[in-house]
Amino acid sequence: STDSKESESQQSKQLPIYRHKAELIRAVKDSTFLLVTGETGSGKTTQLPKYLHRAGFCKDGKIGITQPRRVAAITVAQRVAQEMHCTLGKEVGYQVRFDDCTSQSTAVKYMTDGCLLREILADPVLSQYSVVILDEVHERSLNTDILLGLLKKMFSKPGKAAEGRSFPLKVVVMSATLETDKLSSFLGDCPVFTIPGRTFPVTSTFGFAVGPKDIESSGYVKEVVKVALDVHTSEKAGDILVFLTGQVEIERACDLLYEKAESIDYRYDVEDQTVEGLLILPLYGSMPTDQQRQIFQPPPSGIRKCVVATNIAATSLTINGIKYIIDSGFVKQLNHNSRVGMDILEVVPISKSEAEQRAGRAGRTSAGKCFRIYTKEFWEKNMPEYTVPEIQRTSLTAVVLTLKCLGVHDVIRFPYLDCPEERFILEALKQLYQFDAIDRRGRVTRLGELMVEFPLHPGLTRAVLKAASLGCQDLLLPVAAMLSVENIFIRPELCGVNTDVLLPSGHPEKQKEADEKHKALATKSGSMNDFATLLAVFQLCKSSGRPSAWCKDHWVHWRALKSAFSVETQLREILLRLQQKRDFPVDTYDGEKSELFRRCLCTGYFTNVARRSVGKVFCTMDGHGSMIHIHPSSSLFDHEGKLNWIIFHDVLVTSKVYVRTACPIRYEWVKDLLPKLHEVDVYELSSVARE
Ligand code: ADP
Ligand code: MG
Repeated sequence: STDSKESESQQSKQLPIYRHKAELIRAVKDSTFLLVTGETGSGKTTQLPKYLHRAGFCKDGKIGITQPRRVAAITVAQRVAQEMHCTLGKEVGYQVRFDDCTSQSTAVKYMTDGCLLREILADPVLSQYSVVILDEVHERSLNTDILLGLLKKMFSKPGKAAEGRSFPLKVVVMSATLETDKLSSFLGDCPVFTIPGRTFPVTSTFGFAVGPKDIESSGYVKEVVKVALDVHTSEKAGDILVFLTGQVEIERACDLLYEKAESIDYRYDVEDQTVEGLLILPLYGSMPTDQQRQIFQPPPSGIRKCVVATNIAATSLTINGIKYIIDSGFVKQLNHNSRVGMDILEVVPISKSEAEQRAGRAGRTSAGKCFRIYTKEFWEKNMPEYTVPEIQRTSLTAVVLTLKCLGVHDVIRFPYLDCPEERFILEALKQLYQFDAIDRRGRVTRLGELMVEFPLHPGLTRAVLKAASLGCQDLLLPVAAMLSVENIFIRPELCGVNTDVLLPSGHPEKQKEADEKHKALATKSGSMNDFATLLAVFQLCKSSGRPSAWCKDHWVHWRALKSAFSVETQLREILLRLQQKRDFPVDTYDGEKSELFRRCLCTGYFTNVARRSVGKVFCTMDGHGSMIHIHPSSSLFDHEGKLNWIIFHDVLVTSKVYVRTACPIRYEWVKDLLPKLHEVDVYELSSVARE
């Protein structure tokens, strides 16, 4: 309707960025690199691309805007399409891994930083773009940091960036008001445009209950619920934003809130008579996008909105009208775990600067309050000053392969905004060598060139390519797809991804029913093999003729399966494209047919081999020698005594190390591969880098 369009453009005229529109356009015109900073919510992400589009920057090429988070890319693109009155996927579109919503006519393209990195692989000077905007740079995601280095490098040699291009490329780097000087000096002292914003004071208080021990028990979930209800029943009107750790915790908190909010008697409890109900809305990365719209809508009058979110709401998405913050003090983060030598998603305390950022969300339109559920002592003793950039805490294997394929051989002296530790780089080189992606001297192999095309973990890609070379990709592609989507099995009782602690107030009866269905699926796959179970679920659902009903019957998330089907199709397309090129590897296999599947898996997972040592305990063979256990959700659980060697997909670390997706193998299958885990000379591998 014209009315809503009217108010929408009215709304965007009130954003702090609006008054600086002309100056901003001028600044982009006048420089190659421009740093734009401003408070969260000032309009950088949604407005600047629109201004540049109107000012004619799309005459020669596209405007590309990167986001570290996929939901942000999708949500913001939806909003901007709405503001520009066009259909999403036409002038304004988005692209995230396995989901491309763009077309020939797309001029403003929101995407994840990982997607732009892939585009650089195919087109090193980004010849399709007239403007590239790296957004949310303060988040310091691994891919954004690498993009910063690559763009800096592109312009470091005179004339180099112009090669293969017929018009100049403009680079805009946007961040919240953090580390501005450091960023500007990294980009050759580029100009800085600061959007003045207005913020209101936020008073923060500490709690009494939550400390470091609550990670294990997920005790913070119950505590945020308690505090949220206190705020709801005792504070004046104004919406609440709760920061929690992940989907499972958020859904659990929403359930609890919903239950308890039902029984509030508003006649007596609320001093401010305008609050008569609570609208509870979850917000996390993998939620269906149609549900996300509600997050931004003002609640009906008399109703208080309570958004329960992950860190996505800290800077990526701005929700208006928030007056109260409830901060759990934790975040779910991917960290390299040196005990097991793998990256692990874990719940850790946030940094103090992150806590300030969260609190600031309450002071956008008027004075606000932040309720920290953790103690002052926790703040002082357990929370670091700043968040460590992802590049310094996660595995670099995929990124190093990308750099090598881009011709950046010296991965040690690459222009990093913050250098990763050298041992992380060497670890990545070692892994790439083990997967045959690089040779002894650190040069990319033919296989490495094929591997980089897949947006998957290198080990999994290796297994897919092995299967393809033997003509049995139908076994591995569905597995790769299933491992790429989250939460396949419905687990009613689960709470706390770090721990899998079963909260007593969950749904034990339902869980029992779900467990039985899942066990039956594992049996149907015909072997004790979690990878085979994933394959069976994929195939059974697909061939059932009524897939959504099938999922309901088997306690499987239909939404996850639907994504897995789409991911599988896309992986198949990538594979077909590669197979049509010359020298795609062709292998032969003369072993048992029934073993083929597991042998393919071994080529990708031989770095994750474990041998049973005593009782139910296995020991990894990669030099870390970690003790691992089979997780109760695995089909291998309780059969440990019959097993000697296993491979596994990933681990879950609590007080013990658990594997969830695993299968038994024979020693002969990995015998020839295992020496590769030890023979590597990392100094030789990095010799190209050192020359
Ligand atoms: P910044 O990037 O500077 O943090 P944004 O451009 O993301 O700011 O947000 C500007 C404004 O647009 C905010 O007030 C935000 O609430 C609003 N906004 C963003 N996305 C939506 C949406 N999908 N629906 C309604 N409002 C939105
Ligand atoms: Mg933004």
